Amino acid sequence: MLSGILKIYTFNPPGIVYGFGTRELDWERLRKLYPGYRIKQLQQVHSTVVREDQGEGDGIFTVRKGELLVIKTADCLPVLLAEKQARVVAALHAGWRGLCRGIIPEALRVLKERGFPPEGFSAALGPSIGPCCYEVGEEVMDCFRKSGLPYLLRGKNLDLPTTARLQLLAAGVAEVHILPLCTRCHPEFFYSHRRGDRKARMLSFIGIIDIK
Ligand SMILES: [Zn+2]
Repeated sequence: MLSGILKIYTFNPPGIVYGFGTRELDWERLRKLYPGYRIKQLQQVHSTVVREDQGEGDGIFTVRKGELLVIKTADCLPVLLAEKQARVVAALHAGWRGLCRGIIPEALRVLKERGFPPEGFSAALGPSIGPCCYEVGEEVMDCFRKSGLPYLLRGKNLDLPTTARLQLLAAGVAEVHILPLCTRCHPEFFYSHRRGDRKARMLSFIGIIDIK
């Protein structure tokens, strides 16, 4: 592990830089590790808004080299998307609301509109609250039932990463890689809202490498 950054062994798209920060990775450290990269982030609001510039929304993408798209999460799921020829990358903030409202199909629709069909992407899912710890209520179950989107409940517990994986595959994404670590079960690595960390969040990032 490189200074508070986790990677998925099987997810190594050429021309792309990415990582899932543990609680060790703060903004200062991120800037130090990736000097020269322009950092872009969102005011995340559990929406399905996907945009190219900074602002309010929960999905961001770029076709420019040397930009680092950053998603902040504690128990929600960070979703990173890399196009196989490294022409575009995207990062999504996906909690139950985002997944139920359709942030994943919406992101892939926007990217397709820009000329990048879903089959050209591989996805990486970072740490989030796991099915071990995520009991949900009627409101959540109801939202998914009505959504028409794939989801997975294990008893009363929502499986957030598998739900995202099913939705990505249903939308046509070629590959989905999962980092199977629960934020609530691993206080040594992660912040967790459900465990009582109210404000702190981990930083996940992806960008197109700028080789000068
Ligand atoms: Zn857990």
